Amino acid sequence: MQILDGIKLAKEIKQEIKEAVEAAVKEGKRKPHLAAVLVGNDGASQTYVNNKIKDCQQVGFESSLVKLPNTVSQTELLEVIQKLNTQENLDGFIVQLPLPAQIDQEEIIEAINPKRDVDGFHPTNFGKMALDMSTFLPATPFGILEMLDRYNIPTRGKHAVIIGRSRIVGRPMSILMGRKDFPGNSTVTLTHSNTENLSYYTNHADIVITALGVPGFLTADMVKEGAVVIDVGITRVDDDSEKGYKLVGDVDFENVKQKASWITPVPGGVGPMTRAMLLKNTLLAYKNNTK
Ligand code: NAD
Repeated sequence: MQILDGIKLAKEIKQEIKEAVEAAVKEGKRKPHLAAVLVGNDGASQTYVNNKIKDCQQVGFESSLVKLPNTVSQTELLEVIQKLNTQENLDGFIVQLPLPAQIDQEEIIEAINPKRDVDGFHPTNFGKMALDMSTFLPATPFGILEMLDRYNIPTRGKHAVIIGRSRIVGRPMSILMGRKDFPGNSTVTLTHSNTENLSYYTNHADIVITALGVPGFLTADMVKEGAVVIDVGITRVDDDSEKGYKLVGDVDFENVKQKASWITPVPGGVGPMTRAMLLKNTLLAYKNNTK
């Protein structure tokens, strides 16, 4: 078994981005600029946004944070988005999900200028991705592709089984693994909560990607010897630590690692890659804007 080390790769990618920014600044260009919109005070969302801001600082990006109360109305949030859509010298922005119940999330995502949608959630960008056109790929699937690429994990002709069909991970992942490229060219099975006899599919998988959010769901009896196992799941589970919780993946890591050829840990696998890919998308937006 070998570890797919997201911390190490993300560090390499951030260094590459930092060098690209330094080179651009040397040429007299401005720095890339990412903004984040945070609504309410959900602990996990705050942590995610703080990390994104910290990442920006590490690679030399400008960053800004728009904080809004939990009671924000649809109209107010749309106004903020309209401003960010046209703000000068801003390359991209993200609206941290989930949003409060009074907000129509679909309308918010559709209101984002696709050229600034560095999360890759806008239908235009999702459509472009599905059509193999150049666009912002959603950060988590993008991070997994980058991981497969940099570790040179064979994907062509392999059977990839994805568990979970969310718009941000499972579904785009299934499209990307099936595309005519590397990483890709896999035969893909997209499974979900209505899939019958799931272990039949996972037991016939060369690559298993879990994105469901159920701690320890994928057990050793569900994977074949030598499979590549990628764990997207992150669930906060209470413990006695100072923080009061730990992060747990969808894979029963200790037992599955005995059978896997390659496996991602949680934490330290897909999570850091997701963060790095948001920076990569922002750099792409910046390049488009400063051509
Ligand atoms: P989601 O929570 O929107 O949906 C879960 C999916 O899992 C659904 O499609 C559902 O059909 C499927 N599912 C649920 N129970 C199932 C079962 N018993 N068998 C088969 N399928 C089942 O999904 P999401 O937003 O992609 O999040 C999934 C997990 O990934 C969560 O733990 C989330 O925190 C994590 N996540 C991690 C990252 C990262 O960077 N590592 C990024 C995004 C999400």
